Amino acid sequence: MMPGFSYLRPNSVKEAISGLSQSNAKIHAGGTDLLGCLRDQVFSADMIVSISGLTELKGIRETPGGDVRIGALTSIAGISESRTIRERYPALAQAAAEVASPQLRNQGTIGGNICQRPRCWYFRGDFPCLKKGGDMCYAISGENQYHVVFAGGPCYAVHPSDTAVALAAVQAQVIIAGAAGNRTVKIDSFFVGPDTAVDKENVLAPGELLTEIVVPPAPPKTRSSYRKIRSRGAWDFALVSVACMLQLDGTTVTGAKIYLGGVAPHPWHAEKAEKALIGKKLDAATAAAAGLAAADGANPMSDNGYKVEMLKGAVEESILAFA
Ligand SMILES: Cc1cc2nc3c(=O)[nH]c(=O)nc-3n(C[C@H](O)[C@H](O)[C@H](O)COP(=O)(O)OP(=O)(O)OC[C@H]3O[C@@H](n4cnc5c(N)ncnc54)[C@H](O)[C@@H]3O)c2cc1C
Repeated sequence: MMPGFSYLRPNSVKEAISGLSQSNAKIHAGGTDLLGCLRDQVFSADMIVSISGLTELKGIRETPGGDVRIGALTSIAGISESRTIRERYPALAQAAAEVASPQLRNQGTIGGNICQRPRCWYFRGDFPCLKKGGDMCYAISGENQYHVVFAGGPCYAVHPSDTAVALAAVQAQVIIAGAAGNRTVKIDSFFVGPDTAVDKENVLAPGELLTEIVVPPAPPKTRSSYRKIRSRGAWDFALVSVACMLQLDGTTVTGAKIYLGGVAPHPWHAEKAEKALIGKKLDAATAAAAGLAAADGANPMSDNGYKVEMLKGAVEESILAFA
């Protein structure tokens, strides 16, 4: 049974911010994650602010400066199908195409996708875990095959969004609106780990919402891709995913951005893999070295050691595909 709440359908971002200033207010975009969480009492809301009618937050546009600006309410399908995104940021188009099912990609928004709550079965289930104000993470001694291998503790849930991993690789920024005005945050700094704040996954403060994502022009001679490994061929979250953006001069790698999904509480920056690539010839030995470097520092739990081997292979394959 869905608990009761007040409901506001604002006509502007300003009105939305005003509604969000009320105690325990939550944003409703496509509702594909929010409504399930409320129904299952993963968290509660006293006020729902439904921004889904704010047309100013929909759409993809190229600016004269070369940035691409994506409204937070743009559907995930709209991103995967956008010619601009497919041509300029293949990793992002591919990640969007890998999200969930066609219905969810049509209804779900990019803002909701990167702000969705983790899928840990203890958090989503009937367990008073740390994220719900409890005093323990049940994954530590429980079923942890889908949990983190990097940056774990005190909570060990992985970040669930495919598009967030690709947005990190293409160096996106997000625009956050609040009562004090707008602020721009690099996507790397948007997400926070459980060691910083265990009850949330990003820097959004009460009363704030994400309005836009800004993707800068990719450097010349850049190629990008998103590769996702999941348990089954239907809708499923990533066991491991890799978003790569490589800059090439002939066969030499001159720049690299590599982020991993399914392995950490936020898109994981595989900096050591980037270092293993830059200045090297793009060949099988370099790709294997990057895979190995990506796994450096992994600290698997009792049941998820397979992710370490998986991420090595996923990085290696992703790099080799550019050769
Ligand atoms: C069966 C199933 C399978 C799925 N598989 C995948 C998958 O493979 N990969 C993947 O990435 N995702 C997957 N998802 C998650 C799905 O993509 C998200 O539910 C969807 O993207 C959320 O978008 P929404 O617009 O519906 O968000 P909502 O449900 O409306 O909101 C989600 C959360 O984000 C907050 N929020 C929404 N918009 C904003 C905003 N503009 N500013 C601040 N906060 C905001 C809400 O308050 C809420 O907490 C799956 C979901 C389901 C149900």
